[in-house]
Amino acid sequence: MLRSCAPEACLRNSFETSFQHQISVTTRGHGDTHDITDQVASAVSRSGITTGIVNVFNVGSTASIGTIEFEPGLQADLPAILDKLIPPSRNYGHEQAWHDGNGHSHLQATLQGPSLTVPIAGGKLVLGTWQQIFHLECDVRGRQRTVVITVIGQ
Ligand code: ZN
Repeated sequence: MLRSCAPEACLRNSFETSFQHQISVTTRGHGDTHDITDQVASAVSRSGITTGIVNVFNVGSTASIGTIEFEPGLQADLPAILDKLIPPSRNYGHEQAWHDGNGHSHLQATLQGPSLTVPIAGGKLVLGTWQQIFHLECDVRGRQRTVVITVIGQ
């Protein structure tokens, strides 16, 4: 449906703004998780945006972003369940193409997805008390990751 609004309201909507920031995450290889909630919250705060959304995106096809209760049990459970669903030991087509031993890494990262969108209200991330934003390394070796944080709103 097309948006229709009074001219003054349309003008106000055109003041929507955006802010982008990149962070680095140094990982130690398969199953390494990082809590990046504070970095995302800090980007939101620096943006000055009080109502909107923030998108958090991992650059690269063998790591993922999501939310979880960031505690040691789940930090171990998540990679463990992914290894059951998509085991490292299986013979993947990707291995025949590249022989780099990380077919399961690509598939695990794709299953979870590379990005997350979180609402912003009152200048703060709308997250549950036990809900943190995590970065999960799915690759077989440590990597230097770039995560792009894009804040949109007003
Ligand atoms: Zn590969």
